[in-house]
Amino acid sequence: MRKPIIAGNWKMNKLLSDAKGFVADVKNNVPSSDSVDAIICAPYPFLYELVKETEGTDLKVAAQNMHYEESGAYTGEVSPAVLKDLGVTHVVLGHSERREMFNETDETVNKKAHAAFNYGLLPIVCVGETLEQREANQTMDLVAAQVKKALDGLTEAQVKETVIAYEPIWAIGTGKTATSEQANEVCTHVRKTVAEAVSADAADAVRIQYGGSVKPANIDELLQQSDIDGALVGGASLEADSFLKLVEAGK
Ligand code: PGA
Repeated sequence: MRKPIIAGNWKMNKLLSDAKGFVADVKNNVPSSDSVDAIICAPYPFLYELVKETEGTDLKVAAQNMHYEESGAYTGEVSPAVLKDLGVTHVVLGHSERREMFNETDETVNKKAHAAFNYGLLPIVCVGETLEQREANQTMDLVAAQVKKALDGLTEAQVKETVIAYEPIWAIGTGKTATSEQANEVCTHVRKTVAEAVSADAADAVRIQYGGSVKPANIDELLQQSDIDGALVGGASLEADSFLKLVEAGK
């Protein structure tokens, strides 16, 4: 069975003191990582400190992005080698906010996915459609294309360890959650796409999160769906109480 994975995406929120306070409240209260993966995706400047604070606990720390090169003349970027060196375990790739505002493309997401595995980081690859694309009935084709391009060239073993976050853009930060059936329909399609592009075994193993206005009140129903293995949560992950409820739901 696939282990649930609940990731809190803080985006560009919190100051270091709040971040440390959150982690102090949460780190010894998350369920065992044998039953659920609990992850905080924090801004770069907090990573070093938060990894140290969570050592020996079941709370993991992820980055929200990275570059695909190891080092060099890339002013303002952070390399996978640095994330690994800091003790970060996961990295979010291709979040829709990065695709929309920072020129992230399927091609760069794919390069970053390869780089993540080369440096021993596990990618959480985000895919999802806009409202216009949904209304034009393009969701399934678009999401399948995003998934195939992101995974292109990865080995079957790597795909099995990849996490794919399906996040309909119209549901992010809007309070409008996709219904659990709508969310599952696309997640099922993502799994089918992995089966066709890679293998049935890879499709069986790959973990698929839903993201978009997930909160304690709707997570149970989402996680009961056949192809939803977890959640990528923005707004509702910012408070310790709420994050703990979300992680408990994944147990
Ligand atoms: P939200 O954000 O939970 O605030 O909708 C989700 C995300 O962007 O990952």
